[in-house]
Amino acid sequence: MGIHVYNTLTRKEEPLELISPGKVSIYVCGPTVYDDPHLGHARPAVVFDVITRYLKAQGHAVTYVRNLTDIDDKIIEKARQQNRDFKTLGGHYANRYHEAMRRLNVAAPDAEPKATDHILHMRDFISKLIQRDHAYQSRGNVYFAVESFKNYGRLSRRTVPSISSNFSVEQGKRHPADFALWKEAKPEEPSWASPWGSGRPGWHIECSAMSSRLLGENYDIHGGGADLVFPHHENEIAQSESLFGKTPANYWMHNGLVYIAGEKMSKSLGNALNLHGLLEIHRPEALRLFLLTKHYRHPMEVTHPALHEASARLSKLYRFLFRSAWSDAESGELGINRGALWTRFCNAMGKDFNFPMALSVLFEGIRQVNLVSGNSRDAVGADPACRAISLVSDIFFICRDVLGIAPEPSMDAWPYETETKLSDGKLQTATFRRAS
Ligand SMILES: [Zn+2]
Repeated sequence: MGIHVYNTLTRKEEPLELISPGKVSIYVCGPTVYDDPHLGHARPAVVFDVITRYLKAQGHAVTYVRNLTDIDDKIIEKARQQNRDFKTLGGHYANRYHEAMRRLNVAAPDAEPKATDHILHMRDFISKLIQRDHAYQSRGNVYFAVESFKNYGRLSRRTVPSISSNFSVEQGKRHPADFALWKEAKPEEPSWASPWGSGRPGWHIECSAMSSRLLGENYDIHGGGADLVFPHHENEIAQSESLFGKTPANYWMHNGLVYIAGEKMSKSLGNALNLHGLLEIHRPEALRLFLLTKHYRHPMEVTHPALHEASARLSKLYRFLFRSAWSDAESGELGINRGALWTRFCNAMGKDFNFPMALSVLFEGIRQVNLVSGNSRDAVGADPACRAISLVSDIFFICRDVLGIAPEPSMDAWPYETETKLSDGKLQTATFRRAS
C-alpha cells in the first residue's frame, strides 16, 4: 500500500519512493546525554518507533540508526561542575535514556553510534571538506564556509546574507554564518589529536560522519525534532552534499515539539515531565498512546486532562483486549491476509503517518466488535459473523505489532482503572484501583 510522506525539504507530501525497493534506511538524531530524558525525547523515539514498526508490518526490511551525542559543551560543563569524567557522566545519562526507552517499549535501533567512537571518520570528513575548499582552518578551529555551498538554506528556507563590511564577523570566521566543524580544545577539556591541533568535533559533523558511515552517502529518511531543521540539519546537508555531491537523505521528516500548557502547568508538572517521573505515574503504554494522539508533525501540549484521557483510552483498549480473550497466536504473524480494518488503518498511515486518524480507525473497530458481540466475551469467538473475528484479529495485530501498546500475553487480565490524584492543581499520585 502506498505511503505518502511530508518532506520538509520540498514542503510537500510525496509518495515514498525507496532507493532499493523493499528496503528502508532511516537515520534519526538521538539525544545529547547530559541530563535525564523528558517527554520531548520520548516523542521522536515513539514516533519513529511506530513508523519503523509499520514499515516492517508492510514487509519492508528497515535499517534504523539513532545516534547518541556523548561529547558536547553541555556534557563538558556539567561534568566540570560535578567534578566527574565526561564519559562517566554521558554513560550514566545514556543508561537513563535506554532505561526509559525500554519501559516505553521503544525497540532498540539497529545501530546506535556514539560520537566519540567515530572521531576518526569525522576528522577524515573534515580533511576532505578542507581539500575541496568547503572548509578552512582558523587557529585551532575548522569552519565550514557556507558561501561555498550554493544550496545553503534550502531545507530551512533561509537566505544567507552576503558579506558586507557592516557585518561583525566572529573572530576567525570569514562569514558570520560559518559554523565549526572542529573546535580547538580549551585547557582541561576532553580532546582528540588532529591535523589542526587537539580539539573535538562540532555537533553537526557528528551526524554527517556517522550517517554516511552506517547508511551510505544517500539513504531514504532522515528524522528528528522540528527544532533541528536549523541549524543542525541545514548544516548536515551542507557538509554531506559538499562532500558527496548529493543530498544525504531523500526525505526529511520532523516531529513537532512538546509544550507544557502555560506557566502554571509548567510549575505544577515540574519534575514530572522527566520521563522517569512520568513513568512513575502513568503506564508506559498510556504515554505512548498520548504521544500518538496528535499528528506527529504538529506541536503538542502536555496537560493533565490529556494524559488522563490517554490513560482512560488505554483502560478501554485493554478491557476490550482481555474480554476478547487476548492471545498472541490469534493475532497472526504478518501484515498479510489481514482484514478490512487493517486496510483502513493502512489508508490512514499512508497519509503521512496520520496517527490520530489511525487511532480512530482502531477505536471504531472496537465499537463495531462491541456492537456485534453485544459486549460479551463469548460472543466474539462464537459469533457466526467472521467479521468480528477478523476485526479482533486486526485490532490485536495493530496494537501489538504497530503501536507497541499490547499487554503482555502473560497478563491474564487488566484488572485496574487508573485514577490520577490532583491536589492544588498539582499532580500528586496515580493509583491503580481494581476495576469492578
Ligand atoms: Zn543529528
